[in-house]
Amino acid sequence: MAVITVVRFGMLDARIESEVMGFLARTLDCEVQSGPVLPEPAGALDERRQQWMAIDFLKALVAAAPARGRILGLTGRDLYIPMLSFLFGQAQLDGAAALVSVARLRQEFYGLPGDDGLLLTRARKEALHELGHTFGLVHCPDPGCAMSLSTNLPQVDFKRDAYCTNCGGTARARLAALNGETK
Ligand SMILES: [Zn+2]
Ligand SMILES: [Zn+2]
Repeated sequence: MAVITVVRFGMLDARIESEVMGFLARTLDCEVQSGPVLPEPAGALDERRQQWMAIDFLKALVAAAPARGRILGLTGRDLYIPMLSFLFGQAQLDGAAALVSVARLRQEFYGLPGDDGLLLTRARKEALHELGHTFGLVHCPDPGCAMSLSTNLPQVDFKRDAYCTNCGGTARARLAALNGETK
């Protein structure tokens, strides 16, 4: 059984999912599988904000999560929670589910020409970040580490699509334990 299941919500480009899956399998050196495409949660859209409630997406992921292992959901929708104007993603600390939105990782969101390479690089970093929370990692003080907090795009672009030594060690230990559990 795969340690990590990757799913997408609704109409998201399947290429983004396959790119992120390949990256996670290489970087985390574990089995990664694709899950069923999930419907966008009914009622998650706030018409006035034109944004989608992140918690509803996370709940759908928890419901779809395998008994062991982790699930990462990808959406093209712009996410929010009541306290924040937007989110790049959200995850359960040491839990099953992680969520990434690529809406604000696209150059087009800011009125700039599209850049596929940049979009995929950003998606890799955020996938690693949110999954890191499910491995029990909290935010890292190293701004170059994938686990550093990014609340804006320059911070996303600054960090690497890799964990620092400390975060990597914790993630590997957690993954090794999960590998045993999912065998
Ligand atoms: Zn975080
Ligand atoms: Zn770190």
